[in-house]
Amino acid sequence: MSLDIPALKATQPAAVAFLARSDHPMLLGEHWVPAESGQWMETVDPATGAVLGRFPNGDASDANRAVRAARAAFENGPWPAMTPSQRARILWRVGELIEQHIDELAELETLDQGKPLWVGRYAEIPGAAEQFRFFAGQAQRIEGQTIPTSINYQPPGKQVMAYTVKQPVGVVAAIVPWNSPLVLTAMKLAPALAAGCCVVLKPAEDTSLTALRLGELLLEAGLPPGVVNIVTGRGDVVGAALAAHPGVDKISFTGSTTVGRSVLQAAGGNLKRVTLELGGKSPVIVMPDADMDLAIPGAANAIYFNTGQVCVAGSRLYVHRDVFDRVVNGVADIARSMKLGHGLDAATQVGPVVSRKQADRVHRYVQDAVADGARLLAGGRQLGPNGTFIEPTVLVDVRPDMACVREEIFGPVVVATPVDSLEEALALANDSAYGLAASVWTRDLSTAHRAAARIKSGTVWINCHLMFDASLPIGGVKESGWGRESGQAAVDNFLELKTVCAVI
Ligand code: NAD
Repeated sequence: MSLDIPALKATQPAAVAFLARSDHPMLLGEHWVPAESGQWMETVDPATGAVLGRFPNGDASDANRAVRAARAAFENGPWPAMTPSQRARILWRVGELIEQHIDELAELETLDQGKPLWVGRYAEIPGAAEQFRFFAGQAQRIEGQTIPTSINYQPPGKQVMAYTVKQPVGVVAAIVPWNSPLVLTAMKLAPALAAGCCVVLKPAEDTSLTALRLGELLLEAGLPPGVVNIVTGRGDVVGAALAAHPGVDKISFTGSTTVGRSVLQAAGGNLKRVTLELGGKSPVIVMPDADMDLAIPGAANAIYFNTGQVCVAGSRLYVHRDVFDRVVNGVADIARSMKLGHGLDAATQVGPVVSRKQADRVHRYVQDAVADGARLLAGGRQLGPNGTFIEPTVLVDVRPDMACVREEIFGPVVVATPVDSLEEALALANDSAYGLAASVWTRDLSTAHRAAARIKSGTVWINCHLMFDASLPIGGVKESGWGRESGQAAVDNFLELKTVCAVI
């Protein structure tokens, strides 16, 4: 485990002040409160294991209180009745506040999650601000239709008029994972709020800090109390209580496929609306004519960005045999050269994974793969004072039936396989229970678009990977989930369509 990690601390005055509070209560209505049970959970810096603070270890009674607050805000509060422009102004202001606090939020996210500071500072936190700005616009584009009908019944002198309106679905439970906490939270809150819904947010237990800080910024932006409530605690307690709660109208869940299934079952009681953003095992296909100056670093970035803890991480590499050695050795060279370190160290390229438990899990996948005949071309070791660092790893000589090829590892581990044709690459790419994203690297337009048409996934990138924007829908097919986040249509996840038919 020898890897020297200095115990770096926050330097931004606002982040220092936030952490100095030590106890971070949760938000119910307009009150910042502890759990009803009085229990707290600790959150740690994954790089060092140092305790950062405590947050309430909520349970079903806290979930109840939060749902009641959201219901009261939805039925009697000002938010759903505000004009679209009033709601848009508040959402825009949230985006501005996130941007004003970007350095503070980036430090908090790094300390709580482990990610290199630049990942938060330049990608995820600006991405969170953009979600609020984009959906501020969408709040003003929620429209129904007038519909000409063929109904014969028309009393003398009367006519039939019909139209649709879109109305907020009601109380939304938003359940978020730990890999990119703030932006994934924004991807749920911004469209839900644009639609006029009220929300109970349940952050992941490993990374609740920035959600709680965001709660303060939401109130500062002018969001009426009760419109967003934040309940912290364990997923199998608070999350499960929300998924089953009869007072929740809609679940917007991002997390693992296994938990997604249990959320779906729990939601069946009152037939909640459900969207599921789940796991992935995304293929990266490199053809022999690809621009290697783009493709090799692109394939490395596809898996090592955010230490591989990305739902769309390019974790299966399929390379044409003519260029296999060049590409795979190139990715392995990059893997070996990457600097592991504390996320607050500006030189760090790969931070820790989020927890010891998760690091042990990732490492076990690597050990099992090697025991099963795979060969380590780079990396493979678990390091660091807290055992949370995993070296960027390349595995070759893998078979399609191996767990490392079939299952989501969610760490910096790529498995590489040679292919003899595009056909073979597509067949292997589609031989997966998942279907979240994929990339294809080629100079040939026809190859690129044929591949894009045939890959079974919610997103296909051409000569790039991990390109996100608030305007671009993202989500999965097969066991990667139901529905899409981001993009214009994401507001519809939080709206019900009502038909009005009148004789006038
Ligand atoms: P997880 O499924 O363990 O937890 C996700 C959230 O669900 C957490 O807030 C957790 O507390 C809560 N939870 C746990 N058990 C629950 C239960 N029984 N009922 C209700 N809620 C419960 O996932 P994770 O380990 O936090 O995150 C990693 C997973 O998230 C990976 O599979 C990754 O692919 C996926 N993910 C998907 C996307 C996407 O857009 N498709 C984005 C990011 C992450």
